[in-house]
Amino acid sequence: MSLRFIAALWLAKLSIPVLKITGHNGTDYPGSLAIRICPDFFQKIGKPETIIGVTGTNGKTTCANMLCDAFEAAGKKVLCNRYGSNIDTGLSTCLLKGATLTGKAKFDTAVLEIDERSAVKVFPTITPKYMCVTNLFRDSIMRNGHPDYIAGILDANIPPETKLILNGDDLISGRIALSNERAYYGIEKQPTDVTECENLLNDMRICPICGSKLIYDYRRYHHIGKAHCSKCDFKSPEYDYSGHDIDTEKNTIMIRDKDGDFEYHISNDSMFNIYNTCLVVALFRELGYKGEELGKIMESVKIPDTRFNVQKSGSISVVTQLAKDKNALAVSRATDYVRKMPGHKKMFLLISCYKDERHWSENTCWLYDCDFEMMNDPLMDQLIVTGPRAPDFYMRLLFAGIPEEKIFYELDERKAAAEFDLKKDDTVYIFCGIDAFDLVDDCRKIILKRAEDEGL
Ligand SMILES: [Zn+2]
Repeated sequence: MSLRFIAALWLAKLSIPVLKITGHNGTDYPGSLAIRICPDFFQKIGKPETIIGVTGTNGKTTCANMLCDAFEAAGKKVLCNRYGSNIDTGLSTCLLKGATLTGKAKFDTAVLEIDERSAVKVFPTITPKYMCVTNLFRDSIMRNGHPDYIAGILDANIPPETKLILNGDDLISGRIALSNERAYYGIEKQPTDVTECENLLNDMRICPICGSKLIYDYRRYHHIGKAHCSKCDFKSPEYDYSGHDIDTEKNTIMIRDKDGDFEYHISNDSMFNIYNTCLVVALFRELGYKGEELGKIMESVKIPDTRFNVQKSGSISVVTQLAKDKNALAVSRATDYVRKMPGHKKMFLLISCYKDERHWSENTCWLYDCDFEMMNDPLMDQLIVTGPRAPDFYMRLLFAGIPEEKIFYELDERKAAAEFDLKKDDTVYIFCGIDAFDLVDDCRKIILKRAEDEGL
């Protein structure tokens, strides 16, 4: 153990309470400090024996948190990077928190959310026993290029010993590291499935073997579904964990595996989160948990409420939905969810990339990959565009065919919340990114207060 490593470890550990006192909890600072003092800190720090990695474009933070909930419900102490700090500095922060003063791991098991682009830096040092992959979609173009590019990074870097837990309904992430051992989870055909794509994003159209057109037997959204090649014998994989009979009244799903059919609790009725439940079930079954036992464990698994939250005042409901900026898929999923909700609604867009807008800006082409056309609906009464990106959103909504009189345009977010047209029984859907929680909180309070003051 080198002196340099011990100095890095102790100073980084010391910085944790200091950051807590100064209100900077949950940052990557301790890890980046440790790496600055000792460049091979990440390699040297003790690691739990069993590492479960979680990656993918969307849902990795949610899945990592659900896995941690499940381990805790099973009575296990696991190390988790719960706050989504998922690059090498964030993982170092997490590992040093879980290490003794001599740098040895205090935990047997860790659940680590791993950023898909950090694979190059992370995998030479960390060999997960299991790697869970949620999906691969088009993400921020400036950071992630294209899903095939990300699949290539994972392909080239995931260690050969790692067993993969993959989404069998996603033909992009489902085909990474083909020589690794793998188990597939998926959800059987649903009544709401379609065959032709309804979305703008559709990134798996041709057979990866022969290049002929893929035919979708059913399609849930985007490229998620079951497909086969029109020319060769390529087809979607068989599921090892097959979800079916989703009951949104009872909040349950049946998942069939080699030992039979078991019922599990789902904590949210959106299809995206039901996939997350399937991933957690697949991993725990792989770890040897019995179906009945896991059924009980899954009752304690929750979706963090920063991602989905409903508050009411009088007849007014304010639904906050995480719709990560720069990520057209996340916005399109949220849009689809809102479209399928009953009653009249309003949409309040707070996805202006607030954290980045002062330093750099994403190419706005991602707005043109979002399914805003779905908001051109008679039940959508008003769309509120606000914040520094309001002019871009305004133009995008006009391109989506939304009548100009339905768009409320106000640059100041709080003023927008105070002035848009609020009527009795309205449901206001706030779409927000992960960098605007204070702003979202203020706007939500303003709307709920209006409901009270105006007697709605
Ligand atoms: Zn083919």
